[in-house]
Amino acid sequence: MQFYSTNHSAARATLRDAVVRGLAEDRGLYMPEVIKQLPDTFWDEMTDLTFQEIAYRVADAFFGEDVEAEALRRIVNDTLAFDVPAVRVEEHIYSLELFHGPTLAFKDVGARFMARLLQYFISQQATDGEAATVNVLVATSGDTGSAVANGFLGVEGIHVYVLYPKGKVSPIQECQFTTLGRNITAIEVDGVFDDCQALVKSAFMDKDLNAHMRLTSANSINVARFLPQAFYYFYAYAQLRKLGLTGDGSTEDRRLVVCVPSGNFGNICSALFGHAMGLPVKRFIAANNANDIFYKYLQTGHYEPKASQQTIANAMDVGDPSNFARILDLYGREDIVQRLQQHGYVQPMPSLTDGRLGGTFITGATYTDDQIAETMRTCYAQTGYVLDPHGACGYRALKEQLQPGETGIFLETAHPAKFKDTVDHILGIDLPIPEKLQAFMRGEKKSVAMSKTFEEFKDYLMNQ
Ligand SMILES: *Cc1c(COP(=O)(O)O)cnc(C)c1O
Repeated sequence: MQFYSTNHSAARATLRDAVVRGLAEDRGLYMPEVIKQLPDTFWDEMTDLTFQEIAYRVADAFFGEDVEAEALRRIVNDTLAFDVPAVRVEEHIYSLELFHGPTLAFKDVGARFMARLLQYFISQQATDGEAATVNVLVATSGDTGSAVANGFLGVEGIHVYVLYPKGKVSPIQECQFTTLGRNITAIEVDGVFDDCQALVKSAFMDKDLNAHMRLTSANSINVARFLPQAFYYFYAYAQLRKLGLTGDGSTEDRRLVVCVPSGNFGNICSALFGHAMGLPVKRFIAANNANDIFYKYLQTGHYEPKASQQTIANAMDVGDPSNFARILDLYGREDIVQRLQQHGYVQPMPSLTDGRLGGTFITGATYTDDQIAETMRTCYAQTGYVLDPHGACGYRALKEQLQPGETGIFLETAHPAKFKDTVDHILGIDLPIPEKLQAFMRGEKKSVAMSKTFEEFKDYLMNQ
């Protein structure tokens, strides 16, 4: 499969190049040239298939031409070594719990898949006689670092350097990447997140460093992190179909509404890819915190990025969502638009150029911190379910927008205990910390102290 750039001036890339590069040379995002529809047999059988089997069929549609079947199956099975249950919160509303992986957040899926796919490509090169370690550099403000570090932990042929701002990540987040050891090095930068990101960017551009070692990024826009997120939407559908809650899936009878708490829009974008592959979802809701750029776009047809605003759902504090370009590109494609029209969808999104609205199957929602807190309290009082601040945006949008006869599922993108202080304070409880998280907290913290000057970082890497 070839991948093109959303900016359309870079050359097409193979899967391997798209994964190793992350971003195209023209700074666009890679898109798969073909988005296959899944065969009828898949839909007939899906309620009898395991999560891993469903995921393999979806993975095969994207990666099957470039990765041997047996290897792809192993990558998928290793990645999904945990369940993603659809849990009933109340009548008609389900939570897709994406927090049963090693770091208790949905980013585990993409990070684990990418690590294993990269390892596959490295081991192929090794047999071609080219066996240098690949070094992954990642800057984090908290959650990405833990998912990437744990996703790559123990993966042979890869070393990960996690750069994080000193004193600016929560103790729970910090212990998830500073206690691992092995092929993971944590670098504590005396600065803010932007300084960490600047160090990583400078490293990628530095000639000496690139001659000394093979560098790559594990950014969330990487196709190997983003596409695997489609897996769990198919599995969610299968689980609810088994309960008779989705309709029969025909154009006339679709009842499922999927609501995704969104920041950079990678997660919802992979759901839209699933939809383009035939997943019978009636409509989507992108739930935002106070960072309402996408919401405003849906109202006006104008996309106006702004500086991000800090909220209690901080993993969604994004003022210029990077995957917006992918969503626009997807619905600019004739093959996809035609396919959707066959299923009765008029127009997926407002038009960016003339602000034309109507017929859309993606709606938005935006909530202040007070609304998020109020939603967490109400849901807990009425159902006993503990929402995290991100999932709360999703739950509330369903409560407000679900129509009679529809079933809603929102994504619980992280375990509430990852935001224990906030959740305890809002709900007035003492949320138990899951054993998995406690185990990280017992580990010994190890990190390399670094100033924010590039010279020091470069020196350090040159000596590795
Ligand atoms: C990353 C993250 C999000 C936002 O996901 P996007 O793919 O960036 O839209 C939401 N919730 C949590 C807990 C996250 O870590």
